[in-house]
Amino acid sequence: MIANADLPLHQAVRQRPLAGDGAMGTQLMLAGLEQGSCGEAWNLTHPERVLAIQRRYAEAGSDCLLTNTFGASRIMLNRHGHGGEAAAINRAGVEIARRAFNGRHGYVIGDIGPFGGLLEPYGDFTEEQVRAAFCEQAAALVEAGADAIIVETQTSLEELGLAILAAREAGARTIIGSMAYDVTLDGSTFRTMMGVDPERAAEFMEAQGAHIVALNCGTGMDMQRARAAVQRYKKVSRLPVMVQPNAGQPKLVNMRVVYDETPEQMAAGVAPLLAAGAGVIGACCGSTPEHIRAFRQAIDRFLESL
Ligand SMILES: [Zn+2]
Repeated sequence: MIANADLPLHQAVRQRPLAGDGAMGTQLMLAGLEQGSCGEAWNLTHPERVLAIQRRYAEAGSDCLLTNTFGASRIMLNRHGHGGEAAAINRAGVEIARRAFNGRHGYVIGDIGPFGGLLEPYGDFTEEQVRAAFCEQAAALVEAGADAIIVETQTSLEELGLAILAAREAGARTIIGSMAYDVTLDGSTFRTMMGVDPERAAEFMEAQGAHIVALNCGTGMDMQRARAAVQRYKKVSRLPVMVQPNAGQPKLVNMRVVYDETPEQMAAGVAPLLAAGAGVIGACCGSTPEHIRAFRQAIDRFLESL
């Protein structure tokens, strides 16, 4: 499926666009994970369930799979009493994602999410604590064979910078920085919770040594908004762009959170995203293997039309 399997991810996307994967968190819930419990620990306790989710994404046509390690920094794991297993959970995450490709080539992207607190002076965590947690996680992901590291759902440049540096020190072949934007109340634009706009984020990520600039999750960031973000990234940076919007808005139906955008609705936004220059297109919260299958078809149709 991919022309040259030896190319690092950030070079492969310059040759042709790739399909990412879909949500992990909402899929773990469907597989029986209780709200508020530690989904990353399943890499050790229920690896077959994590594998089954990622297999479905691989079978739907994902070229890239994110490891189930979003909350697997020591600081996040400490909340569940799993801090001591941080390295093992991250290593297992890489191994499961690799197995999900079932022998075919694909990119395993080691996932680093926010550490889940605030840095001093606003919060209780020192820069050194956060740096150490990201370094431990990034090192475990790279040593286990991750092809890339994504630092995702980021809202502050300070935390993003610490995680990108950790990925660099770990020797990650490709580093992706991914911001979570919220559409402003008046609907006119979008920025992160901490007030960072896409131009500033892209310039910062490029200066810090990231290879791909990305956006994921956020509030109100549908495929059209994601396209606007790609265009704004492209204005200030020549780096490839990755996008992973949510499957619409969360709604509570029968005491269950469901997302309201169907695979067809989201897939209609794929060609405009590709035309705007997006290099990797996946999806975030609420998306399913069916969404990724529809993305795969839309990407392939777009390539055939060229
Ligand atoms: Zn999300």
